[in-house]
Amino acid sequence: MKAYRNVAKIIRATEEQVAPNLAVRRPLPAQDLDYIDPFLLLDHMGPRVIRAGEEGGVPDHPHRGFEPVTFLFEGVVEHKDSQGNHSKISGGDVQWMTAGSGIIHSERMAKELTEKGGTFHGVQLWMNLPAKDKMTKPGYQNIRSETIPVVEREGVGIRVIAGEILGKKGPAKTHSPVLALHIKMEKDSEAEIPVNSDHNAFYYVLDGQVKLGKGQSAEPGQLVLFEREQGAIRIEASAKTGILFLAGKPLNEPVASYGPFVMSSQEEIRQAINDYRSGKMGRIDF
Ligand code: MN
Repeated sequence: MKAYRNVAKIIRATEEQVAPNLAVRRPLPAQDLDYIDPFLLLDHMGPRVIRAGEEGGVPDHPHRGFEPVTFLFEGVVEHKDSQGNHSKISGGDVQWMTAGSGIIHSERMAKELTEKGGTFHGVQLWMNLPAKDKMTKPGYQNIRSETIPVVEREGVGIRVIAGEILGKKGPAKTHSPVLALHIKMEKDSEAEIPVNSDHNAFYYVLDGQVKLGKGQSAEPGQLVLFEREQGAIRIEASAKTGILFLAGKPLNEPVASYGPFVMSSQEEIRQAINDYRSGKMGRIDF
């Protein structure tokens, strides 16, 4: 039996402007990779210093058919949605939203951040929903940093957000098996992450540097995708490093996406656009 999975691909993020004051690094989707089933999109926001008085974020917009997940590492974000949810998340918190049949939300830098200024740093991940759950009731999980268990190893802290690893279980409730970890590593530390052999797995380097085989390394802005095979994933940090690690069971279903909607067919996309235009996804009225 093989001990470790091999690297399949290293993807460098492109720069995208998602809102007037929000540039992101986007490794997924990539030029020749539409998604890593069940993961559809990854946007790395910052780290960026926000000056006092500066504003940023994304105003009201819809989603249907998937789960937009925000991992916030630094800063404060204010969320409002058409289900009546209103909350703020800050450094270390995770917001796990189920768009389901349709939700309208806004995500803005909160005044705690914009009034005084400070650092803003996070990731937004889009996770697909199984076809049978695409029209489920919208949901919202506000996962506070202090409820996220941490596996401590020599020089390594693994924050378990979703799924179970090394005896710790993450608080996020998901619609398909997924492992979501935020890993903090000291220089010259090593981590070994066991992964189910039929799951897709990758990590994204937030900061620092990871040593790969054959003199290669992965830098911030790079996504390292592994072969789907038996074996754990070995990570060697050659600097103080932060990583977002994701693994999930592929849904193996057709994906049709258009802007903020991810469905199974073009017909369902047309329906989503019509339902949004006719106001069926609700509105934010507070
Ligand atoms: Mn959104």
